[in-house]
Amino acid sequence: MRVTQLFTKTSKTAPADEVAKNARLLIQAGYVHKEMAGVYTFLPLGLRVLENICTVIREEMNAIGGQELKLTTLQDAEIWKATGRWDDEAVDVWFKTKLKNDTELGLGPTHEEPLVRAVKPFITSYKDLPFLAYQIQTKFRNETRAKSGVMRGREFLMKDLYTFARTQEEHDELYEKIKQAYFRVYERLGIGEQTFLTFASGGMFSQYSHEFQTLTDAGEDTIYLDRNKKIAINEEVNNDEVLAELGLERDKLEAVKAAEVGNIFTLKDKFSGPLGLTFSDESDQIHNVLMGCYGIGPSRLVGVITELMADDKGLVWPENIAPFMLYIARLGVEEQVVAAADKLYNDLTSAGIEVLYDDRDARPGEKFADADLLGIPHRVVVSAKTVEQGTYEYKKRTETESSMLSEADLKNRLTTSN
Ligand code: ATP
Ligand code: MG
Repeated sequence: MRVTQLFTKTSKTAPADEVAKNARLLIQAGYVHKEMAGVYTFLPLGLRVLENICTVIREEMNAIGGQELKLTTLQDAEIWKATGRWDDEAVDVWFKTKLKNDTELGLGPTHEEPLVRAVKPFITSYKDLPFLAYQIQTKFRNETRAKSGVMRGREFLMKDLYTFARTQEEHDELYEKIKQAYFRVYERLGIGEQTFLTFASGGMFSQYSHEFQTLTDAGEDTIYLDRNKKIAINEEVNNDEVLAELGLERDKLEAVKAAEVGNIFTLKDKFSGPLGLTFSDESDQIHNVLMGCYGIGPSRLVGVITELMADDKGLVWPENIAPFMLYIARLGVEEQVVAAADKLYNDLTSAGIEVLYDDRDARPGEKFADADLLGIPHRVVVSAKTVEQGTYEYKKRTETESSMLSEADLKNRLTTSN
């Protein structure tokens, strides 16, 4: 993509009305637009990052047998009444609306009820189970606070997967498999080392649920972490009984700020029971299907990764999710310089490398500042000097020294790098 064709532009300054670092930087760099508090539009660069995160998640969910679908945003009040979750006392984040004939509807804050109803016609026998279904979809929650930028939206993206099993043992196996897939997701997103499995309350249906918490001062949660054991507990389960059970010692726990990037739950028959999702076993006995639910927040992850990786010059994206791999800064408008930069852009693009080509007639300082602010992992300078030498001046976003490379070496860096 050519910078002269990109409709978004960077700003010299961060927006004055944003307190969260992630929103300040993402807006300044033209990745997102703030519609209102807790409501953000993803502009082309931001959408590329968000989609790259979703691709990683989708690949890992597909690899463990997840089947993708898409449920509706508009929710039928009746199905939620059946499980007792329509009431604002039970779910305090509902956005509700009405049809013209006054029938009440909701905007989905989560999707257990409608999914159970949608799969029910297909499930009758033990032969129909187990299975895993997931979606990546916009959720609506009337959150009280919305000061964390894209990390806490009133409208946000969630990947929610649900498992349907016959026995507790079968459920436990699926749960473990998904937990491992979650670790792979965070690893591939470049936040594996800072992300910890955190024991949380399991509610009425299991002893624990598990959160995936990424350490960052911008996080809204405090967790108690044993760095050696690589596990943490959250506030709800911070008591002597749980510590003993998990083999943790209080004086080895560190209280740290973190952001919840995922949460997995055992649901047993909390939803299948009231909604009548049953199956018959080999001897024609009827049982409730055993469920689990597993969430990850891709739009929150955009914010968390921004918070963790950005430096004083701007955004820094890991290669796996960067909107572009390489920034070509063309310095000068002389014919040979333009020809060399155009050729490099075309060559690399046809080699499948995603390039953002700064073809503007602008000062070098402006181009370098934008390359840094935008956080593109690699930068190449094409100038009268490099053309004369027949090489390219190359630098990584996270390094200060540049080096001179041939086109072949450059290609090599961009295809095998990390
Ligand atoms: P929190 O405690 O932060 O409010 P939650 O426990 O209510 O989150 P879940 O229902 O567990 O959230 O949702 C699954 C995942 O969706 C979370 O782990 C998080 O990554 C993401 N998520 C939840 N709420 C938001 C939000 N308001 N904005 C962006 N992402 C969110
Ligand atoms: Mg949660």
